[in-house]
Amino acid sequence: MIDLPLEYATRKVEYDEAMQAVLQAGDFIKGKAVTEFEHQLAQFLNIKHSISCANGTDALEIALRALNIGEGDEVIVPAFSYVAALEVVSLLGAKPVLVDVDAQYFQIDVTKLKSLINPRTKAIIAVHLFGQAVDVDELLEIAKAHQLYIIEDNAQSFGGMYKNQYLGTFGHISCTSFFPTKNLACYGDGGAIFTQDDTLAKKIRMIANHGQSAKYQHEVVGRNSRLDTLQAAVLQVKLRYLKPSLAIKVGLARLYQQQLLEIEEISLPQVATHSQHSWNQFTIRVHQNRDELKQFLAQHGVQSMIYYPKVLSQQPAYIGLNQDFPVAQQLTKEVLSLPIHDQLKEEDIQQVSKLIKEFYG
Ligand SMILES: *Cc1c(COP(=O)(O)O)cnc(C)c1O
Repeated sequence: MIDLPLEYATRKVEYDEAMQAVLQAGDFIKGKAVTEFEHQLAQFLNIKHSISCANGTDALEIALRALNIGEGDEVIVPAFSYVAALEVVSLLGAKPVLVDVDAQYFQIDVTKLKSLINPRTKAIIAVHLFGQAVDVDELLEIAKAHQLYIIEDNAQSFGGMYKNQYLGTFGHISCTSFFPTKNLACYGDGGAIFTQDDTLAKKIRMIANHGQSAKYQHEVVGRNSRLDTLQAAVLQVKLRYLKPSLAIKVGLARLYQQQLLEIEEISLPQVATHSQHSWNQFTIRVHQNRDELKQFLAQHGVQSMIYYPKVLSQQPAYIGLNQDFPVAQQLTKEVLSLPIHDQLKEEDIQQVSKLIKEFYG
């Protein structure tokens, strides 16, 4: 699905230099590269505040804490997604309320939101899934009408856009992850939080660093959630290549779309008109023999992944949450993510496509 050693090898000199500089300076925590990278991130997204932290899950937890969300509050999260948003809402003692997704774009179904909102609802966590954007305008309108916070989760969609504006700049707070498989990735765990709001930014920065406003001045109960300087140094290199990397993936996705167009047994991923897809995943829907196709690809040396095999409400830890998600349910039976990353060549895409055509005869 992704070739991290190859990616490292292609820019080894730059990565080694960046990491050596940190080793020589010894500023491993809150070092120079962290501050620089935070500025570069803010500049890239064109947002006022960028605060790094230890990972994307922490970013979500810190965001909720900064908004004082906890016991007695409800937060709406997608039922078809990675577990992180659901997890942090639960950890903070708030009640997660799941919402179904749409079958076309796999994003939160905004038409199903209103019936889930009540006076206890405080926020919606808008996960931009697989690299594409949720319907931001509609979401912001609902949030405004019901005085809800929007927390964007663009862990899979960093660099993706909605109407020519970067994802991660629309919500009250946005969260991202630099996990090695994300669009902007480091060599371990990392995350960041974004906001335009000065007061929230101050609070977020405190919470991520033991609730401190200054050294040994603990204003709120905080966390230890910091981005390592070594990771920040790696990320500075990666950020320089993010745009070309995204452009490569857009080209590869287009090629998949051409090559797979005529196979009736599958549906190709749709790109919403308002969305500039960042292709963290190229996820098809397979209407016939999905698991057999996956196996066939594997036998021919091609990895593919099922994101996600279960609706979140079917996971043992979350049984008891609201249940009725017909679209999510259907997707768990049909989705298959094919390899897409910036080290792949056109021939690779042709090869994978050829195998899929062969499978369906
Ligand atoms: C990866 C991911 C996260 C969590 O990020 P970590 O850095 O692994 O904690 C959160 N939300 C989504 C949608 C993700 O894909």
